[in-house]
Amino acid sequence: MSGLGYEPVIGLEIHVQLATRTKMFCGCALGFGEPINTRTCPVCLGHPGALPTLNAQAVRLAIVTGLALGSTIAERSTFHRKNYFYPDLPKAYQISQYDEPIAIGGEFLVLGEEGVTKVGITRAHLEEDAAKLVHLGAGGRRADADESVVDFNRGGTPLLEIVTEPDIDSARDAAEFLRQLRLTLRHLGVSDCNMEEGSMRVDANVSVRPRGESELGTKAEVKNMNSFKSLHDALLYEIVRQVEEIENGGSIVQETRHWDAGAKRTSALRSKEEAHDYRYFPEPDMVPFEFSEEYVERIEKKLPELPDAK
Ligand code: ADP
Ligand code: ZN
Ligand code: MG
Repeated sequence: MSGLGYEPVIGLEIHVQLATRTKMFCGCALGFGEPINTRTCPVCLGHPGALPTLNAQAVRLAIVTGLALGSTIAERSTFHRKNYFYPDLPKAYQISQYDEPIAIGGEFLVLGEEGVTKVGITRAHLEEDAAKLVHLGAGGRRADADESVVDFNRGGTPLLEIVTEPDIDSARDAAEFLRQLRLTLRHLGVSDCNMEEGSMRVDANVSVRPRGESELGTKAEVKNMNSFKSLHDALLYEIVRQVEEIENGGSIVQETRHWDAGAKRTSALRSKEEAHDYRYFPEPDMVPFEFSEEYVERIEKKLPELPDAK
């Protein structure tokens, strides 16, 4: 296969739902599978004038994760508004972090068949989840739904987004990375990482380049994988697609692609948005948060032994 002349480059963005009792910025209890719109309040419904209050336990779990990944815990961290319109986002912005995330850098060691692979961690940041669209009728798919409703129970759920460096070079290693990261996060009590229920979600960025080339190729971002197998299969498909595209004289478009597990293929979803499209600006309703070294050290002392050390 001519594809042997190419090397895949993969970086992952993993969202984990933090194992807190309540939501990120309000006192509503978290849950899964409750009757829709029974766990809401003016804050997570986005009513004007309702003010967010930061969940201390979510911050603690983010620090635990950062320490386990060898990240630097920022002494000062801020929230930003990420602006976009969608029916599951009543405020028309998501409270997220931008240029001052809670955890910076680090690495995660993956034990594979060919020894240990180091995957660099770029950052980890806190944010709130959006609500959920529920499509009613005909199999729950949007295209043939009779009607759609918004379930705000999930809106405001605390998430930690972990971003890796583009250090992974096969579909198998990507799935293995995720498996071992999940083990660590569960061990730490950070998240239950249930992929089917969406408490761990992964977006995969992938490009290919001629073997030996040091410059990165243009990447596509693949979404909608809800199992390790989906991640693996989606990446394999996407790598072959990109190599064929280039071999046939075409070029890769930077875009977001959707994995269809039934059809076993990815398809273009939308052209990639840039940071400036979101008009990020500092969240005026939240003060920057700062930790003393002692606070971080106290958390560090209580960390259990990690699975890879064991
Ligand atoms: P964007 O600006 O599109 O969000 P980032 O540079 O923030 O891109 O990277 C997002 C994710 O994509 C990270 O996990 C990173 O490792 C990965 N990534 C970046 N460039 C490439 C590339 N050329 N090929 C594969 N993955 C990449
Ligand atoms: Zn609420
Ligand atoms: Mg980015």
